[in-house]
Amino acid sequence: MIPPIASKFVAGESPAEALEHVRTLNDRGVAGILNLLGEHYDDPANATADTDAYLQLIDDIAESEIDACISVKPSQIGLDIGAETFEDNLTEIANRGAKRDVFVWVDMEDYTTTDNTLDAYEDLVRRHEGGMGLCLQANLKRTRDDLERLADVPGKVRIVKGAYDEPSEVAYTDKDRVDREYRKLIEYMFESFDDGVAIGSHDPEFVSVARDLHREHGTPYEIQMLMGVRTDAQYELAAEGVDVYQYIPYGNKWFSYFYRRVRERKENALFALRAIVN
Ligand code: FAD
Repeated sequence: MIPPIASKFVAGESPAEALEHVRTLNDRGVAGILNLLGEHYDDPANATADTDAYLQLIDDIAESEIDACISVKPSQIGLDIGAETFEDNLTEIANRGAKRDVFVWVDMEDYTTTDNTLDAYEDLVRRHEGGMGLCLQANLKRTRDDLERLADVPGKVRIVKGAYDEPSEVAYTDKDRVDREYRKLIEYMFESFDDGVAIGSHDPEFVSVARDLHREHGTPYEIQMLMGVRTDAQYELAAEGVDVYQYIPYGNKWFSYFYRRVRERKENALFALRAIVN
């Protein structure tokens, strides 16, 4: 069982708990993006087990009439084992998502994985003519080119600042520079992505940028934030009519995810400390 201090950021260990969390969110106008925690498997059995868990999750979402989709990490379904294992498992998940009409997001990991992830995604999203989305990272110098490649491909792109510490040969490492790139890429997407733009950020500045660009270009957009982060803002945006998605991790590998959230922000550490003391 997940201790109360971690339950701010993780919906539970079981899919049933995660689906229940989505129901309460849906009541507030927010949709869910479900992510089974797990990454960097080098044993194919683990990649197969999580692929099977996602197939079952897709069926559960389809049958429960909730507003939710899924998001999968490439190294969770075999990318560290080999590109072929990853492609086979992603194909199974994409096919099931298309069959049950459940949207499938693909997270992006560090820069060494970008080519394989992009190639597998593009192949599948073209085959299914949509129903899938891919995350791209503003800190990578290549991302403008990758966006141009995907602009006329069916499917969505979630643009984020980038969570991985990348070498300066391939990435902008200065935070202000990343923010400037993020703005430019968002502007490009509102101009060029007719099917919509997904902003994966808690940053109030870029939520406003998206709102202004939507007014200017009419391009549909959605804001995606993590469970446990700026929850009131998620509800407020949804009440204003913005499409808001909450990224909801669940599963028994919650500790390292929770630890990352606590380390990245002082307020989260204080929250955890208060919960232990009280
Ligand atoms: P930051 O630059 O961290 O902060 C900017 C401002 O946002 C802060 O000054 C504050 O006002 C506000 N803010 C930020 N965090 C908090 C907080 N905890 N509480 C209150 N206010 C806060 N990265 C990847 O590399 N690959 C992925 O696949 C990926 N998927 C993601 C999916 C979603 C839905 C989200 C939200 C993020 C994802 N990320 C991913 C992470 C992303 O790259 C960033 O590392 C992360 O979102 C932090 O950047 P930020 O834009 O939220 O704001």
